[in-house]
Amino acid sequence: MTSILIFAGESDELDRQAVSLAASLGPVEVASVGPTKIGGVEKAWQIEHPILSDYAPEAIAESLAQLVGQGMPSAVIAAGTERNNEVMAHLAALLDLPLATNVLTVSAEGDDWHLTRVRWGGSLIEEATLSAFLKLLTVAPHSQPAWEESKAATPEIFEPELAEELGRTRVRERVTVDEGISLTTAPVIVSGGRGVGSAEGFAALEELAGLLGGAVGCSRVVTNNGWRSHRDQVGQTGTRVAPHLYVACGISGAIQHWVGMMAAKNVLAINTDPEAPMVTKADYAVIGDLHEVLPAIISEIRRRQGTM
Ligand SMILES: Cc1cc2nc3c(=O)[nH]c(=O)nc-3n(C[C@H](O)[C@H](O)[C@H](O)COP(=O)(O)OP(=O)(O)OC[C@H]3O[C@@H](n4cnc5c(N)ncnc54)[C@H](O)[C@@H]3O)c2cc1C
Repeated sequence: MTSILIFAGESDELDRQAVSLAASLGPVEVASVGPTKIGGVEKAWQIEHPILSDYAPEAIAESLAQLVGQGMPSAVIAAGTERNNEVMAHLAALLDLPLATNVLTVSAEGDDWHLTRVRWGGSLIEEATLSAFLKLLTVAPHSQPAWEESKAATPEIFEPELAEELGRTRVRERVTVDEGISLTTAPVIVSGGRGVGSAEGFAALEELAGLLGGAVGCSRVVTNNGWRSHRDQVGQTGTRVAPHLYVACGISGAIQHWVGMMAAKNVLAINTDPEAPMVTKADYAVIGDLHEVLPAIISEIRRRQGTM
């Protein structure tokens, strides 16, 4: 049985989700630039070349194309991050093959793969058939359980032949992200929308997030108003999150926001409007002014912790 090649890119958690989907279809090999911690697969390839010392999507795609030529897998699959989608788009162009992005499910039937995939920021689930001899696809983040095996095999080094001009992407500046829990890994997100009213209004959300070991998120109205940085924005044009608990404070629940947090295990809405979409879709809701509700929750947590 021919294997499926996973390109393991920037996120161990999302790479593992891609492996889970691939493992349901056949034996899996993993290729990565630098070492990977993913284990329990047929083979691990470590791609090495000086051009790949930094982000180089065209060069990575060319490396994968050469690896494909060597092993002839039946598919190349990657987690659907922005960077991986870019790499896979280059690979598809190089091989003159179609690419299906943001795939949720695959069922193989002979040479055809029947897919469902997320379109239009999550507001549409498309059914599609992929008939290419080599399938190229990326997996919608947080749509699969993560592959848990971590006892990584000793990787085989693969040294592609790369022309100098493939390294044309230059990283000119790196922005230091504040240390602490990030939106993508936080078990709890306390998120604020227009209802918070001001940048200063987020102090209560920061305090609650701190007490719960979580991070603060926000809606696009908030970033448009300059109350928070875009880094904190959840949604279609922000970050997609999947915390255990998402506390939506003064957020109406527009579809573009909902698609970014619909993978949350539990949603608590705090809103003055009982008809707001966030309230009607949430697992729990408190109807009230967040400026009164949040201090009450914080005070109760502190009382129970004995830190009043
Ligand atoms: C192409 C495109 C991409 C987009 N991408 C994103 C995205 O990534 N993320 C995103 O968030 N949006 C995105 N949007 C915008 C989205 O459509 C909504 O406009 C936005 O999410 C609304 O933000 P909000 O819920 O904070 O504000 P509103 O919709 O104005 O809702 C405010 C809510 O706060 C409640 N409220 C008011 N005062 C209080 C109070 N004192 N206490 C409690 N509740 C109160 C109100 O009842 C209301 O429900 C996008 C839009 C487009 C067109």
